[in-house]
Amino acid sequence: MRRIMTVMGTRPEAIKLCPLVQELKKRRNVEVLVCSTGQHRSMLESALRAFEIRPDFDLDCMRTGQGHATLSARILRGMDELLRAERPDIVLVQGDTTSAFSAALAAFYAGIPIGHVEAGLRTYQMHAPFPEEMHRRSIALLSDLHFAPTVTAKRNLVKEGIPESSVFITGNTVVDAMRITLSKRDSQTDWEIPAGKRLILFTAHRMENLGTPIRGMFRALRRILEEHPDVLAICPLHHNPEVRSAARAILYDAPRVRMIEPPEIVSFHRLMAKSYLILTDSGGIQEEASVMGIPTVVMRYATERSEGIRAGVLRLAGSGEEGIYHLATRLLAPGSEEYESMKRPSAIFGDGKASVRIADALEKFDLDGSRARARML
Ligand code: UDP
Repeated sequence: MRRIMTVMGTRPEAIKLCPLVQELKKRRNVEVLVCSTGQHRSMLESALRAFEIRPDFDLDCMRTGQGHATLSARILRGMDELLRAERPDIVLVQGDTTSAFSAALAAFYAGIPIGHVEAGLRTYQMHAPFPEEMHRRSIALLSDLHFAPTVTAKRNLVKEGIPESSVFITGNTVVDAMRITLSKRDSQTDWEIPAGKRLILFTAHRMENLGTPIRGMFRALRRILEEHPDVLAICPLHHNPEVRSAARAILYDAPRVRMIEPPEIVSFHRLMAKSYLILTDSGGIQEEASVMGIPTVVMRYATERSEGIRAGVLRLAGSGEEGIYHLATRLLAPGSEEYESMKRPSAIFGDGKASVRIADALEKFDLDGSRARARML
């Protein structure tokens, strides 16, 4: 029997770890523990509910106005106490958040092997996205098992000196999650789009885009709406107060735009599926849009999801107003061949069986070596 502790703090981590938690729960030789750091509590809990998973532990680390350093310190302390009390055999983290990085660091100090889900994503620009690029590179240094979603991600890791035998190409668990969410009924709303109208789904929240870039993004959307009477926009507003105030200041009297609370994941995936065009600076939405084949303007200068660009579904616009406005306008032009060429679902991010592959690797992982290492500490 091996005890595997999964740690998650934000919405994307929950969405991408829940299918794996469900898979691990099916395994007779595995006991799976779920720990929430509480980093983005309400968005995390909404995602967990969709997969009917409840955390076993809640570190309750979030405080209003808290920076990354203080949050990291709280998670490190909370995780250290929890790891001493529960002594899991493996700690699993996902992606690139402060929760994932701090939990991995705490496990490293405790001599507990770490598995990194969605390993090897890189822009190779330390500040884009910030602080995520630093987090994922650091987690790679700390981890024993690297679950790379794609060949490109594996190549990045091997190039950085990570032993090839510890890297598994699994696909991204987000595809597993989408199989679950898209088979469920939408509990929130049906997202009726009036006949003859085209929907833009717009999300922006990246830390490095706060301030001038995010205001430019909302202004680009406003201009697009003013110039295209058949286009509607829905903007789920991230809980960050700076995002909300910028959106409200610029879009309050823009035509045909709805600013809404972030829909939970089942509903959000339905909304994506009904979209004509997506404008986003999100990481995960780039993958989901690629899977669905929804043309997407990525409001960033660099992406760690370059596979989606190569697959043709994503286009980088940069995070400046003019670049976003011009690219979206081109794609909205009647009969745009460029738009049509982007509209193709891609299997580049996986086949929906990533969780099975990861669970297999976790079951086969040699714990004896790592137990010896823990004894030395
Ligand atoms: N998402 C959601 N509701 C929303 C916006 C996003 O459920 O209103 C989901 C989305 O489908 C994706 C994840 O949240 O799975 C992405 O989260 P986010 O953009 O916050 O983080 P990132 O992926 O950029 O780290």
